Amino acid sequence: MTPIDDLPIRDELRGKTPYGAPQLDVPVRLNTNENPYPVPEDLVRRITERVSDAARGMNRYPDRDAVVLRTQLAHYLSRTTGHQVGPTQVWAANGSNEVLQQLLQAFGGPGRTALGFDPSYSMHALISRGTGTGWISGPRTEEFNIDRAAAVAAIAEHRPDVVFICSPNNPTGTAVDEETVLALYEAAQAAAPGRHGALVVVDEAYAEFSHRPSLLPLIEGRPTLVVTRTMSKAFGAAGLRLGYLAADAAVVDAVQLVRLPYHLSAITQATAHAALEFADTLLGYVAELKAERDRLVTELTDIGCEVTESDANFVQFGRFDDAQDAWRRLLEHGVLVRDNGVPGRLRVTTGTRAENDAFLDAVRAVRKEISQ
Ligand SMILES: *Cc1c(COP(=O)(O)O)cnc(C)c1O
Repeated sequence: MTPIDDLPIRDELRGKTPYGAPQLDVPVRLNTNENPYPVPEDLVRRITERVSDAARGMNRYPDRDAVVLRTQLAHYLSRTTGHQVGPTQVWAANGSNEVLQQLLQAFGGPGRTALGFDPSYSMHALISRGTGTGWISGPRTEEFNIDRAAAVAAIAEHRPDVVFICSPNNPTGTAVDEETVLALYEAAQAAAPGRHGALVVVDEAYAEFSHRPSLLPLIEGRPTLVVTRTMSKAFGAAGLRLGYLAADAAVVDAVQLVRLPYHLSAITQATAHAALEFADTLLGYVAELKAERDRLVTELTDIGCEVTESDANFVQFGRFDDAQDAWRRLLEHGVLVRDNGVPGRLRVTTGTRAENDAFLDAVRAVRKEISQ
């Protein structure tokens, strides 16, 4: 095979590695924040019905604007956040990663920059790079929170075109309060005089797992504040590939300038529609997962680990002198967790009760091995 760098590839992609959490076949897989529960059988049947209907009409392109699905997503958001949003304020794509890419295609791009607060979701930086948007890494505190004053100062200094706020944050699990989002939004507006202010993207992939209310109501009266969501985590539908955003309807019009025509297949739209009909069932699993997440925090602390408080369906824990070594040792015990490159820390996704027990046993064993 020709070395990739011998190809006429863009300079900023030379020598880079793709996103990739290992997909290893081990007994306990707790590394990609998926929902551990399989799709319930009655939802499988509903999906089959809706997909059959969609298949009959598959000689035609799908509804390009996914109006039925966006209407359902708007209902779901309005019902669960108490803030009324309409279908014109909602946009959907193949995973929230595609939503983020469309936002960067429309609001970032060559000559523009995006700023996020690391450690955070690595795809924010990767999608920025993929769209030719410069990446600026902003600060976090020792406790992995966003320091309001430092963050405002970073925005004033760098004057980014896009600001990412991930809440609850991946991989740390920490949530961001409303006042901080508002302060960052104000700073982003003030830093961009003569233009129209930066786009502030609040990535709420884990909102359903949080102790705090959604930040979605903040979009009201703030035309450059966007909240992104996904069906990959709380809805237990990572294999579906469905993400969405809520914002001022003008933002939805803007992403339509860059989206590929018919980007969301009729099959995807039909499947997502069926899943949304089962929202209450699926949110029932979320309640169980939150209880298990809280148990993980308690038990890891009791074992003697340093644990970061979590508002998501995963927990960051440590400290290890060598996190990579601890990751390998856990794998030898049949448990796959995630090494996000945060020094001394690893991240575990909340699994079923049995999976979590197996994980906790493995942590006890590894700590014993290391201390010997
Ligand atoms: C998992 C995750 C996503 C979701 O990506 P999809 O493309 O919808 O599967 C988005 N943001 C964060 C922070 C995530 O952890």
